[in-house]
This record gives sequence, structure tokens and C-alpha cells, in this order.
Amino acid sequence: MGVKVAKFGGTSVADAIQIEKIKKIVTSDPDRRYVVVSAPGKRFDSDNKITDLLYLCKAQIDHNAPYDQVFQVVQDRFAAMALTLGVDVDIAGKFEEIRAALQDGPSADYIASRGEYLNALIIAAYLGYDFVDAVGLVLFDKKGKYLHEETRETLKAELAKHEKAVLPGFYGSYPDGRIKTFSRGGSDITGAIVASAADADMYENWTDVSGFLMADPRIVKSPKAISRLSYMELRELSYMGASVLHENAIYPARQANIPINIRNTNDPDAPGTIITAEEDARDSVGIITGIAGSKDFTVMAVYKNMMSTEVGFIRRLLSVFEDYNIPVEHIPSGVDTVSIVVAKSYLEDKITDIIEDFERKAQPDSIEVFDDMALIATVGIGMASRPGVSARLFGALYDAGINIRMIDQGSSEMNIIIGVENKDFENAVRAIYNAFVG
Ligand code: ASP
Repeated sequence: MGVKVAKFGGTSVADAIQIEKIKKIVTSDPDRRYVVVSAPGKRFDSDNKITDLLYLCKAQIDHNAPYDQVFQVVQDRFAAMALTLGVDVDIAGKFEEIRAALQDGPSADYIASRGEYLNALIIAAYLGYDFVDAVGLVLFDKKGKYLHEETRETLKAELAKHEKAVLPGFYGSYPDGRIKTFSRGGSDITGAIVASAADADMYENWTDVSGFLMADPRIVKSPKAISRLSYMELRELSYMGASVLHENAIYPARQANIPINIRNTNDPDAPGTIITAEEDARDSVGIITGIAGSKDFTVMAVYKNMMSTEVGFIRRLLSVFEDYNIPVEHIPSGVDTVSIVVAKSYLEDKITDIIEDFERKAQPDSIEVFDDMALIATVGIGMASRPGVSARLFGALYDAGINIRMIDQGSSEMNIIIGVENKDFENAVRAIYNAFVG
């Protein structure tokens, strides 16, 4: 018998109907021994996530505004779930405890964590699994840094005591026992940590889409699903905007070599996407795995005669971005030119100061600024050492009449990143998709 860790995201546990679905999923495979849950998410588009409501309570407490109404909405949602599912969890008593804690200036992390805590209690009771709290098991140091090795060891020992258990996602604790959360969407991370501590054969991440698609369905009509993907490709695609899984969830699974299976709670028969190590993903792939991208980058093109022989020039330029705490996305370069690509949102009103600092620190001959550039990454381990891939890509863009402003290929040959004007973004994505997938 194997072990699977099944993590269910907010929409999968949004109400009693969804929780009934997850019971069917969990009980249909005896390997699904450990379950990690998010707080209830949205039941419909205009609904509120429980976590957002809890953060709102905290903001109201901080501003001495009455928070009872919002808090009552949260309580009512949990009470309705417990009632419909017929579980014996004292919701009113739990909310009394939380109300009492709210009197003494609770931390945002404590309040936010209560969504996962209560949901895990209800779901554990409904599944007949043990409830295992994350406090004292998912460990952070006193500065709030997550401690992976310590967590793995402590959690492993605890899981060994439970044949089947439900754990709340999203939070753990400081050494003194106070609650510390991961960043938003962090239950994905807890799921990966539990999978690692349980030496699981598979980390199933149940959400509301049937895995990754080869392109954004808002741009490409009915794009194909990606059935298999390597951890590295996932990183490239998520970095460029394809978001299904929290990026920090990859490390614990990858380190323990546990495949991640993205599945859809509302379509449990769909196989979803499996994310594995490079060697296991390589055999089954086509030329490209996926296309992702985003708009609104700025390119600063710097020219200086004899730049290529001037020691330290690029460092001086880049130090300006460091001074302003701005991350640099790409640095394509020529003999005497270098372009620096950064997300436009970071520049805002700083651009004049940055140019002045460039002039002071590096004395370039000219600086040109192009706004409104979109970046598109075409990703695939199948591209490496295969001739003709870029010819096909650039040919397709030429045929579509798209002007390419920047080209950057990673040395792993796993991606080709191009820059086009914002207005050409959608057409470019469609042209690339059609060239490779049809
Ligand atoms: N409930 C938390 C959030 O909304 C964590 C999670 O769902 O993963 O960010």
C-alpha cells in the first residue's frame, strides 16, 4: 500500500456540498491517508474567501472599528457547514475561544489561521480521520523563517502515530508556540511538507481546474492540457504568470522526489497534470510544454561606445536597481549595448531618478526607454538540442506580422523568451501556440 497526501484548496472546501465531494475522492483510494485543507474559499464569483474576511476583522480591530458583523458571517458559514454535514464539532464553543483571544490584540497570523483550523476540525470529523494541528509541527524560527529539516523530522514522528489524519494548511508556529502563517495560498506549501514528511508516493493538489493548460484559455481557445511537466518547467511557466500552485510548494516535493498531481475536485475523473523530476518528464513530452507571459514591462536600452571592454560597467548599471530595490527580469546585451528589462510597476515615479543615477555611476552615451513591452516564454525540455525550434517560432511570429523587440534564450535551452509590444501580446501567444500545437 502506498501513501498519498491530498491537499484541497479553498474552492474544494468552500461549503458542505464541496466537502461531500472530497469525502468521495478521499475514500475512493485507501492510499489517501493524509489530507491537508485550506480555509473555505469562494462558493460563487462575488462570494468572499474566509481568509479575506478574517484579515478584514483584524484590520477593523486595528482601527478600533466594530468587527462583530464580519466575524459573525465567518461563524455562520462554519456553523452551516457543520450542521449540514452533521458533524459533532462545537463551533459555538470554538468561536467563543477565538472571540476571547481577539480581546488581547491578536496577531494577523493568528486570526487568518483560524479558517484552516476550523475547516480541518470539521473535515476530520466528517471523514472520521484524526485532527492533527500544525502548531508545534510546522516549525518557524523566531524570525519567522520556515525550518524544513526540523519540521520534516517532527512531523514524521507525529504522522507515524496516525493511520489517517487531516491537517490544516497555511500555518505553523514560532518556537514559543505563537502562530505563523506562510504567504497567501500557503496551504499548497503545507501539503508539500506533509507529503515529504509522510514519504508519500504522490502529492495530490486538488483545485478547481484540471491541471495546467498549454496556454491561457482567455487567449487561446480550448488549449490542450499539459499531462506531464517537470519541476523546472513549472517554475518557468509560473514565473511568467501561469498560477495554479504556490511556487514555494515545489521545493519540499522536489527535494523528496515526490510527484505532484494537480487534480480537479469538480471533475475527479480527469487525470490532471503530473509534475515530476526532469528525467521522468522527458520521455513523454512534445516539442513545447507550454506558453506563458505577461504584459507591462519596461526596457531601458543603454548604449556606450567600447562598453564591452569597460570593466564593471554592467555591475554599475545594475547596482542602481539594487539601490531602488527593483528586481531585474532580463539583461539581453549586444557589443556596446545592454538592455535592462524590469516590470513597469516597480518603476512608477522612479524612472527619472534611475536615469540620473545611471548617468552619474556609468556615464553611458545614450539611454532609451521603451514602455509597454510584453514578455512571452515558450517553455519545454523537449526543445533542448532540437534544431528548428526557434526557426518555427520566429517564422510564426513573422507570418503573423509581429515585431519582436527582444529575444532571450536560457542556456538550458528550456525556454525562449521574446519581448513584443503589449498590443501584440495575445496575437503572438496564439501564433506560437498554433505553430507548435495547431
Ligand atoms: N487560506 C489561505 C489563503 O487564502 C491559504 C490557502 O488557501 O492556501 O491565502
